Amino acid sequence: MSAIQSIQVDCVVIGGGVVGAAVAVELSKRSGQEILVLEKGPRIGEGVTSRNSGVIHAGIYYPPHSLKAETCIEGQKLLYQWCEEHQVPFRKTGKWIVGQTAEQESLEQIYENAKICGVKSLKWSSTLADEVDGLFADRGIFSPETGIVDPYAYCASLMHSAEENGAMIISNAQVTSVETTRDGYTLTSSRGEIRAQTVINAAGLDSDDIARMVGIEKYTLYPCRGDYFKFNTPVSFRQLIYPAKPKNAPGLGVHLTLSLDGSYRLGPDAYYVDTKESFQDPVNQDEKRDAFLMSARKLFKAVDANMLSYDTCGIRPKLRAPNGTKEEDFVISKDLPGWVNLIGIESPGLTAALAIAKRVAQLL
Ligand SMILES: Cc1cc2nc3c(=O)[nH]c(=O)nc-3n(C[C@H](O)[C@H](O)[C@H](O)COP(=O)(O)OP(=O)(O)OC[C@H]3O[C@@H](n4cnc5c(N)ncnc54)[C@H](O)[C@@H]3O)c2cc1C
Repeated sequence: MSAIQSIQVDCVVIGGGVVGAAVAVELSKRSGQEILVLEKGPRIGEGVTSRNSGVIHAGIYYPPHSLKAETCIEGQKLLYQWCEEHQVPFRKTGKWIVGQTAEQESLEQIYENAKICGVKSLKWSSTLADEVDGLFADRGIFSPETGIVDPYAYCASLMHSAEENGAMIISNAQVTSVETTRDGYTLTSSRGEIRAQTVINAAGLDSDDIARMVGIEKYTLYPCRGDYFKFNTPVSFRQLIYPAKPKNAPGLGVHLTLSLDGSYRLGPDAYYVDTKESFQDPVNQDEKRDAFLMSARKLFKAVDANMLSYDTCGIRPKLRAPNGTKEEDFVISKDLPGWVNLIGIESPGLTAALAIAKRVAQLL
């Protein structure tokens, strides 16, 4: 791996995940801009982007007028359009939100919130048992616009288009320090020094550390892990099945998702971990499987332990502290001249990426 000469570009995007890729596409459409994406890993899209559920969310749960709600709804449309135009694998599966206990938000609350946010497509069902076999609940909300996408293929497609527009991507290029200069920023990376007038910090789990490199101390990310179990045997459901969201929980509750290869998974759960690198398999797998089984059995019938085996995990870059009581919004903020921070881009960041990129372009 060779060092690069000291180079000067108009704009550096730090981070080659789906958000950095979407920003690179959006900015590279502007004629004459030299865009450089710096990715610390050997390949793009191997951070949070490759460790998620791949669900194209509809924008149901987030507070009205929040960036999460607005960019999710706008991003969903842009994502579907992108996938159709660029042959990225996706499927509009639809999703059921079912059942309720005292510890969960009521279906009515969720439905009303979605309506205020502008999600128009939801449908009530009070005859759920007739519509879907094998569920415990008899009432539910159906979201026909929810779907699934191949996150890695989506990220690669965005990055490929950015390159076609003239953007450059350098991998194995970890940004290690930043200096403010009279006309922009000088970034030191493991591949060399880069000068740029504009910097977009899209470094996912490390975006708070990058902000600190330029003297912005106000953001702290708390890594919040989610594990997945996969089904060893086929399941009969055609749609994604979610519980009503657990009250104040940092996740949506263990749910059933489908992948484009036809496999099914349960998860992710949500629990805070000490480091951003806590990806090792859980030691308490049996205990965890039992907890997943309990969650699944509240949703649907006919599931037992030998149907499940441990799959993988992802880590959410959360701005909500472990003792926090409410979710924090995305940060899309021009905190210094020519410097935009994208921080706390957890779910629905995959869905929202193209809409986030449009907000970034408006800030410049
Ligand atoms: C368990 C889980 C499930 C999720 N499910 C969904 C879902 O179903 N639907 C949905 O819409 N969203 C979902 N999300 C959220 C979604 O995955 C993220 O919002 C999205 O992937 C964030 O992309 P990103 O580009 O910001 O981050 P990343 O993909 O992590 O990209 C950041 C990149 O920056 C690089 N980087 C870091 N530090 C440096 C540095 N110093 N120098 C250079 N490069 C650096 C990293 O290597 C990484 O590649 C989920 C997230 C998790 C954790």
